[in-house]
Amino acid sequence: MTAPGRQCGDCTLCCKVMAIEELAKPVNAWCAHCRPGHGCMIYANRPAECRTFACVWLVNELLEEHWKPSKSKLVLTTSEDGLEVRCDPGFPDAWRKEPFRSELREWAVSGEAPDMTVVVIVGQRMTLVTSEHEFDLGIVGPDERIELEGTKVVNATVVKASDLEQ
Ligand code: SF4
Ligand code: SF4
Repeated sequence: MTAPGRQCGDCTLCCKVMAIEELAKPVNAWCAHCRPGHGCMIYANRPAECRTFACVWLVNELLEEHWKPSKSKLVLTTSEDGLEVRCDPGFPDAWRKEPFRSELREWAVSGEAPDMTVVVIVGQRMTLVTSEHEFDLGIVGPDERIELEGTKVVNATVVKASDLEQ
């Protein structure tokens, strides 16, 4: 549910950074139906994936106004592992700017105890943000998972999901 006072307005960034399976739209490419900065040209008939999607900024008023994706160039979503931060590839360093970087660090600190990770995705590259380090995980495929060492992260590696299950 949308947070009070929040609406997409001039933001259309999820229509670029997210993949839409039903449209065979890859990540980091504008959807053919998007008018960037204006909205969806097939709004009434948009795919179910689009209807059900809402970024964290839209639904959580605890995320302050400066995180609005059209301004921050960052689209936040949650996964079972924690927080995923997708950076507009046109602004690959957006997440390193302040106050974003410091806030990501703070969330990484508070996520350590409940085992929630903060991952930044720029293009195909992923970076794990921890309280003290940033781990470049390289290109992480859809069937790969991050494996962490220790309660305080000392190292992170990427392994195939099928290897984890063994
Ligand atoms: S990124 Fe969030 S605020 Fe922007 S259009 Fe998508 S759901 Fe709306
Ligand atoms: S169909 Fe519409 S809502 Fe869905 S990605 Fe394309 S422009 Fe965005």
